[in-house]
Amino acid sequence: MALIVQKYGGSSVADAESIKRVAKRIVDTRRAGHDVVVAVSAMGDTTDELLDLANEVAPIPAPRELDMLLSSGERISMALLAMAIHSMGFEARSFTGSQAGMITDSQHGAARIVDVTPIRLREALDEGAIVIVAGFQGFNRDTRDITTLGRGGSDTTAVALAAALSADVCEIYSDVDGIFTADPRVIPKAQKLDHVSSEEMLELAANGAKVLYIRAVEYARRHGVLIHARSTFSSSEGTYVLGEGMKNPREAEGAAMEEPIVAGVATDFGQAKITVSGVPDVPGKAAEIFKIVAKSGANVDMIVQNVSATGRTDISFTVPKADAAAALKALAGEQTEVGFQNLIHDDQIGKLSVVGAGMRTHSGVSATLFEALSSGGINIEMISTSEIRISVVLRDTDLAEAARTVHTAYGLDGDAEATVHAGSGR
Ligand code: ASP
Ligand code: MG
Repeated sequence: MALIVQKYGGSSVADAESIKRVAKRIVDTRRAGHDVVVAVSAMGDTTDELLDLANEVAPIPAPRELDMLLSSGERISMALLAMAIHSMGFEARSFTGSQAGMITDSQHGAARIVDVTPIRLREALDEGAIVIVAGFQGFNRDTRDITTLGRGGSDTTAVALAAALSADVCEIYSDVDGIFTADPRVIPKAQKLDHVSSEEMLELAANGAKVLYIRAVEYARRHGVLIHARSTFSSSEGTYVLGEGMKNPREAEGAAMEEPIVAGVATDFGQAKITVSGVPDVPGKAAEIFKIVAKSGANVDMIVQNVSATGRTDISFTVPKADAAAALKALAGEQTEVGFQNLIHDDQIGKLSVVGAGMRTHSGVSATLFEALSSGGINIEMISTSEIRISVVLRDTDLAEAARTVHTAYGLDGDAEATVHAGSGR
């Protein structure tokens, strides 16, 4: 008998029929003899709808009240799910985040979990009940208020519960089959990965892969939680995300598998490029520029500085599209102080990243990427690397074609086209 934590995303509980389907899946797990703890998201697009409503009554909704509102989405689905399980003849009990002992800091809308005290969950499990927990929410001890963990936070709820309860596995259910070598909607020949290391998963998620949330993967990595990302709509196994020293449960003991050098290709259409041109080439200018950008709240990703010919240089960087306006405004406000000549904004870019732990030990990985792009006649505008990732910025209109070419070049293409059920990945 194992203790299994399962997380169901909004698309898995979008309506009554889906809730019943999920209830059956939970009951099947229970019937197989396991203890089950479930973290559930709000039904379908509930969170977006609640956000829209809030914005209709107030231009800037009060953060405390917004969390009261948004946390109600998960309370609806948890109660309905418990009812559905009950009617199948099984004992189920639902709990809000605070009842479940999900203790967070006090930052409304983006709270961090600081402690998990699942006393009531343990009691319920001991009494033989299936436990359902509202995802995405917690409670702050000082303010005694309800908090939410930020969009997609139910993944983190599930992983935190798995850690606190020492679960055997944390299964994250969505409408896609697992983690793929690329987004199957961009690259139909993408293949489902059997497993991926958590460090590769973090790089893939940070560079555009959407199936798992970064904070959940980080939490799992820190606390040694085994994640199994799989689909609500099929019974096939998904992808295991393995932390350091973890074994793929599907692999026979001792059977060493040859790890591919490249785990996947991620695509990101969400970035914009800002170029600060004619920056005086003297010490301290980069510091000034990025202090201004940071103060605007923009999250900088790639940075490139050109060689200077005339005592002036250009600095280009990328930020999420949504942050670009704030960064531009902040920079424009300090143009004379910094002494640059021009600001150029370009949001027609796309980022392609190749991720693989094998890059540490194999040479030629970047050469393969650049050759593939050059054979496709695709121009590279920026390049950045980490130990296990190479990213390039391209024209956004080139990105899909570039990703297909690169996917083929690394031998990642599968024989059959991947099945995409609904495809939001949530
Ligand atoms: N319902 C929340 C959201 O849509 C949390 C989640 O789905 O994980 O962001
Ligand atoms: Mg949701």
